Amino acid sequence: MQAAADMRQVAVLGATGSIGTSALDVIARHPQRMRASVLAAGSQVDALLALCIAHRPDHAVISDPAGHARLRDGLAAAGLHTEAHAGNEALEALVAGPACDTVVAAIVGAAGLGSTLAAARAGKRLLLANKESLVLAGELVMAAARASGADIVPIDSEHSAVFQCMRSCRAEEVRRIVLTASGGPFRGRDRASLAEVTPAQAVAHPKWSMGPKISVDSATLMNKGLEVIEAHHLFGLPASRIGVLVHPQSLVHALVEYVDGSTLAQLGLPDMRTALAVGLGWPERIESGVGGLDLLTQGRLEFEAPDTDAFPCLRLAGEAMEAGGTAPAVLNAANEEAVSAFLQGRIGFLGIPALVEEALAALPAAPAGSLDALLEADAAARRLTRQRIESGAPA
Ligand code: NDP
Ligand code: MG
Repeated sequence: MQAAADMRQVAVLGATGSIGTSALDVIARHPQRMRASVLAAGSQVDALLALCIAHRPDHAVISDPAGHARLRDGLAAAGLHTEAHAGNEALEALVAGPACDTVVAAIVGAAGLGSTLAAARAGKRLLLANKESLVLAGELVMAAARASGADIVPIDSEHSAVFQCMRSCRAEEVRRIVLTASGGPFRGRDRASLAEVTPAQAVAHPKWSMGPKISVDSATLMNKGLEVIEAHHLFGLPASRIGVLVHPQSLVHALVEYVDGSTLAQLGLPDMRTALAVGLGWPERIESGVGGLDLLTQGRLEFEAPDTDAFPCLRLAGEAMEAGGTAPAVLNAANEEAVSAFLQGRIGFLGIPALVEEALAALPAAPAGSLDALLEADAAARRLTRQRIESGAPA
C-alpha cells in the first residue's frame, strides 16, 4: 500500500511494552493520518511478531541478536513484507533514516539512550517516554535536538501536562512548576514497615498500569526523582523551581505557576494514551480513546507533601541533580541494577535506596563532558552495585 505523502510514519521503540501498546492503540485510531512504520522490541520475538501481523510495519527490530532468525522466519511465514533487523546499530540506523519521521522512545532504562540520541540527532519528532536517557545524558540529548531542530514532545504524564500548560507562554513568564506523584502503593507507610514488602506488592500501582521497572520506581518515589531531573532538562528550570506534591487521585498531572500568581494545571484520567495523542497529533488535538474527566464522580482532589524519610530515593535524586556531572548517571544505573535485583527477590525493598546511596558516595560526581564519560560512570555504578548485591549486602 502506498502511504500518502503527509502520512506520519511512526517508529515505536519498546512496542511490546506498556507505553508501546498504548501508542499503537492511538496510532490505529487514525489510519488516514499515521501508521506504525517501524516496530522494535528487546527480546520478546513472539510478541513483536504478533504486533507486526496487526500493524504491518515496514521494519521490525529485535535488539537481542539471538532473535533475528525467528523474527525473519515468522514474518515470512505470516506472508508479511516487513523486513527483519536485529541489534542496536540496526535500530539506530532505522531511527535516523527515512523509515520514520516520528519516534516513540519507549524502551525502558538506559538501554534506550542510543536510539533516543539517534532520533534527536536526526531531527525527528521525538515522543520521549524513556526518561532514563534524559537522566543519564540530558544535556547531550537536548543539545542534539537543538542542533538538528528535532521537536521533543514529552510523554511522561507530568511533563506532558507542563508542556500543554506552557503552550501559550514564554519561559521567563514561568515562576515554577509542580509535578504531582500518586505516592505509589505504600503511601502513608513508615520506613520500618517497608522492609518486608514483596515485588508483587510493589508493582501493584494504585492508579497507573505500567511496566515493572517504573512501577517499582513509583513505589520508592525514585520515579519522581527521575522526573524532576527530566523536567530540569526538558524545561530548562533549576531544581529550586521544580516542586513535587503527592496527589493520590492522579487526576492533576502537573501545575505551572506564572510570575503574575496565576497557576494552570492539566487534568485527565490516568491513561497514557492522552499524552501519546498529544505527541502524535501536536499541535492538533486528536482522539485518544480516553474518556473525559467527571469531577463529580471523582469526588475529592487531595494533596500532601512527599515523605522523604520513608522514601529517600526522592532526596537522593535531588542530591544527584545538585551534584551534577556524572552523579545522575550513577544514580540511574545503581537504581536500575537495584530494582532488577529487587524484582528477582535478591534484595529487599529498602535495599534499593541503600544501594543507590552507596553508589553515589563511592563514585563522586565528575565532570560529564562527553557521552563516553557518562557511559563509563553508568558502567562503574552497575559494576559496583552488582558486586554489593552478590556479596549479600544489603539484604
Ligand atoms: P515496559 O517494561 O512495559 O516495556 C519496556 C519495553 O522496552 C519493551 O518493549 C521491551 O521489549 C523493551 N526493551 C527492554 N529492554 C530493551 C533493550 N535492551 N533494548 C531494546 N528494547 C528493550 O516499560 P514501560 O512501557 O512501562 O516504560 C517504558 C519507558 O517509558 C520507561 O522509560 C518508563 O520510565 C517510561 N514511562 C512509562 C510510563 C507508563 O505508564 N508505563 C509512564 C511514563 C514514563 P521486550 O518486551 O522484548 O522485553
Ligand atoms: Mg510520570
